[in-house]
Amino acid sequence: MAETTPPLLPQMLDQWQSTLGWQPTEAQQQLFQRLYQTIVITNQSFNLTRITEPNDFWEKHLWDSLRGIQAWLTTDPKSLSLVDIGTGAGLPGLPIAIVKPDWQLTLVDSTRKKVKFVQQTAEDLELKGVNALSDRAEQLGHSKYYRAQYDLATIRAVSKPSVCAEYVLPLLKVGGTAILYRGQWTDEDAQACERAMAELGGKVDRVETFETPLTNGARSCAYLKKITPTSTDYPRAVGLPTQKPL
Ligand code: SAM
Repeated sequence: MAETTPPLLPQMLDQWQSTLGWQPTEAQQQLFQRLYQTIVITNQSFNLTRITEPNDFWEKHLWDSLRGIQAWLTTDPKSLSLVDIGTGAGLPGLPIAIVKPDWQLTLVDSTRKKVKFVQQTAEDLELKGVNALSDRAEQLGHSKYYRAQYDLATIRAVSKPSVCAEYVLPLLKVGGTAILYRGQWTDEDAQACERAMAELGGKVDRVETFETPLTNGARSCAYLKKITPTSTDYPRAVGLPTQKPL
């Protein structure tokens, strides 16, 4: 089947500015376009995402990915380490790598083929801080090379909040922050997350609820702070966090 070249992404400079107080550079916009093109072309033979229209991709993948790190977009003076669990096609990890070239990012997924795609895309886009890894969060959390090594962890569309918390808290340094990207944030989510935090050595720092800028979709980001080392009981064995959520 012949490959069709995807259309241009919208620039949306006013929207970036009014919603996040930040704008991408010309070079970053070009990288967004190349990322979009790569995902859409690959999607013709390997299912990575249902979101392929330019405005949709801008809003639901690029904007959404960067909304989660809004607090760091204009402020961080130093290089940070970030792990993105269940990165899929590299979301939110690759947009973050584009705007934060000095950060060290580990993009993790249990599906080898997706990880191969992410690693190749990072190389093509010359995103030097990216390392893509095929593993399960439950295993990575017990590796001495990855446990308690990260300043930030992101996790989007992987599982319910308490499961996500069990995947990411063990990977954070004490003082680090996990960002759980969600749709709606319900009372049930809040209660389950509080329970999980007590077990995992963290606390819910804040939950931000907001709407996406083009279609007003409900979104939230929960920011979890690690306050003490996580017990080595966590994460539990592969599959247990989802079978018996905390
Ligand atoms: N984060 C991406 C996004 O927002 O578009 C992908 C979301 S996709 C719905 C969930 C991904 O999480 C899948 O690619 C799946 O392979 C991965 N995943 C699920 N459980 C995992 C685990 N325990 N460890 C690592 N990856 C996992």
